[in-house]
Amino acid sequence: MNSHCCPAMREQVSFQCDMHKDLFECPDVLVAYAARYDEYGLIIRDGGQSVRLISHCPWCGAKLPDSRRDRWFDELEALGFDEPTAQEIPEKYKTDAWYRDA
Ligand SMILES: [Zn+2]
Ligand SMILES: [Zn+2]
Repeated sequence: MNSHCCPAMREQVSFQCDMHKDLFECPDVLVAYAARYDEYGLIIRDGGQSVRLISHCPWCGAKLPDSRRDRWFDELEALGFDEPTAQEIPEKYKTDAWYRDA
């Protein structure tokens, strides 16, 4: 598991709800963490999976890591995946393993 800036953030991003399998449907969840991009975002309640990226923690004010989304796409493109979100990509690119283990 990777470390988050503070207990409040840790609690948010590891939150598991018994009522809602999809956290985007759970009103108790404010912040979503996308491990594969190292991105934090505020969930936008539009019925989909929209997030507004945040650069600082809403609770402790810590600066959050820069998004790795561009590098994620670059590395996968170099591996021959031109549409990685729709393709079956290597397992490590589905989590934070691709940059944690590098
Ligand atoms: Zn924090
Ligand atoms: Zn819920």
